[in-house]
Amino acid sequence: KKITIAIDGFSSTGKSTLAKQLAKHLGYIYVDTGAMYRAVTLYAMQHDFISDTQFDKKALIDKLPKISLQFLFNPDLGYAEIFLNEKNVETEIRTLEVSNFVSRIAEISEVRAKLVEQQQNMGKNKGIVMDGRDIGTVVFTDAELKLFMTASPETRAQRRYEELIQKGQDVTYEEVLKNVQERDYIDTHREDSPLVKADDAIEIDNSHLSIQEQFDKVLGLVNT
Ligand code: C5P
Repeated sequence: KKITIAIDGFSSTGKSTLAKQLAKHLGYIYVDTGAMYRAVTLYAMQHDFISDTQFDKKALIDKLPKISLQFLFNPDLGYAEIFLNEKNVETEIRTLEVSNFVSRIAEISEVRAKLVEQQQNMGKNKGIVMDGRDIGTVVFTDAELKLFMTASPETRAQRRYEELIQKGQDVTYEEVLKNVQERDYIDTHREDSPLVKADDAIEIDNSHLSIQEQFDKVLGLVNT
């Protein structure tokens, strides 16, 4: 019987790695909700609603109906990529620039309402793995399996730093650590749907788990 798997947790805790592995193994759909918040951020940057000195929140809210987000499965990659108004933005949304602003966009209630509704529609059929910050607490409160992933900020920053360097981005470990800590703070302190562990979520601290160990552990939970 197919189920809904909700994975929440702090930035760079390996949520998407785990979610992709699970989706592939179980034949489920994987939805990266962080990519949706990132794509809205990219849209705001492209339309100059965000600059060093100002952030035109109202202009973005007015334009929300014009923002269309779609996931299209890429068989070569084995997961779906995100399209913003028909354009593949999978690479563009992963820059540190987008990361530095995304939590501010995710604070906006109107943005959250739009994205949560789309996420709930995508999950109408079981057999879905969704990762984010509010999946177990807001999007799918009745998910059969809820996971809450944690790891120390330093472990997470190191992982994210290596990933960005591998992609050829020019960043320092200190910048990445600062970004991870700032997002943790904003995500846990915002008024609308702050990041908290759902009462019925299982916490997984993967600071000292390999990717394979973590996968085996979670697969055990799916099968019980
Ligand atoms: O998962 P990822 O790190 O790509 O998410 C980027 C940001 O989007 C998070 O730091 C958080 O501010 C926001 N987000 C959110 N709710 C979600 C997914 C992401 O607020 N469900």
